[in-house]
Amino acid sequence: MARRVALALAALVAALAAGWAIGAWWLWQTQVPSGLRLPEVAATDVLSAAELDEARDYERFLRFSFLGSLVVLLVVFGLYARYGARFVRESAAGRIGTGMLLGMLGFAILWLVQVPFGLLDLWWERRHDVSELGYGEWLVLNWFALGGEFVFVCLALLIVMGLAGPLRNWWWIPGAAVFVGLATLFTFISPYLIPAQVDAPPALVAEADRLAEEQGLPDIPVRVQEVDAYEAPNAAATGLGPTRRIILWNTLVDTFDGDEVRVVLAHELGHHSSNHLWKSIAWYALFAVPGAFLIAWATRGRGGMREPTAVPLALLVLVLLQVLALPAQNAITRHMEAEADWVALETTEDPEAASRLFTDFSSAALLDPSPPTWSYLLVETHPSIAERIGMAEAWRERGGR
Ligand SMILES: [Zn+2]
Repeated sequence: MARRVALALAALVAALAAGWAIGAWWLWQTQVPSGLRLPEVAATDVLSAAELDEARDYERFLRFSFLGSLVVLLVVFGLYARYGARFVRESAAGRIGTGMLLGMLGFAILWLVQVPFGLLDLWWERRHDVSELGYGEWLVLNWFALGGEFVFVCLALLIVMGLAGPLRNWWWIPGAAVFVGLATLFTFISPYLIPAQVDAPPALVAEADRLAEEQGLPDIPVRVQEVDAYEAPNAAATGLGPTRRIILWNTLVDTFDGDEVRVVLAHELGHHSSNHLWKSIAWYALFAVPGAFLIAWATRGRGGMREPTAVPLALLVLVLLQVLALPAQNAITRHMEAEADWVALETTEDPEAASRLFTDFSSAALLDPSPPTWSYLLVETHPSIAERIGMAEAWRERGGR
């Protein structure tokens, strides 16, 4: 009997793993021609020697600051998992309320130890004219971000601990489904959460409509976000279905030429026409299901997620899983970004403007055109500037369409 159960369980695990692999393979497919070879682009062909020195110097500091804050994050949550439960042993807030208190306390401690890293990064960005944000303003913004994290942590614990009450260690199955639903809802409403949006100039809207039509999309609204505290340019594709939107920072619209902005528009529309926001949610589901299972499994020794004393350990496991998944998640976003670049080349048919855009972007945002491998794997969510220029050249060498 026991042998039969074990066999059935093994078959179930094998079927789930096969389903996972098929899903991942399907999501990994893109319109970039398979076997496209990118010509080698040297960093010195992108930036002048002086600019390259400054970009590398600038990025090196931020990379080590990132690594430092990552180590602090793991140490703090490691200690919190070990000793955190002592803080509220006598709490009268009830099972879920006590869990929420422990969750908020963990994030508050983390916030305190990470403020120095944030201030140091800001000092460095201000020194290099990438940001003009004041230290006080930064602290206020960060304080509000902590408030947002509190809301998120409490909601997540309410769901997990609420489900773990009746379901014990099986909460992770409906729990993962609820989190995927919330991620979908958040993506849907995210265009309305971005502050300081104004209407885009009519010429830009007309251009976006032309490009959208070429990509088989309906008209997608374009908005400009006024970010007076930043110098570096940026853009984003947000929303799902009827809430889809393109956001361009004023730092991009005001300083880059019309053809460059057109490439950015085509790239962001490419995210929508390639269904990247839906695909991101599907990838999230592929990580959330095993992740929720591992949290349930890791916390069972502390009575599982129905016990508030399991919360500090759950936070540590969550953070560890996120750090471990970082290289895979960066590879996934880089893959989608490369597809959006390819779609932009196909719709604008203007590889010169694309190369110019990436070069100007590199010098405006002080981006190292070819970052070191460890940083590429651990930090970079986009292909390197050298790769992006390489793709524009590869498109031209193929003779366009
Ligand atoms: Zn993109």
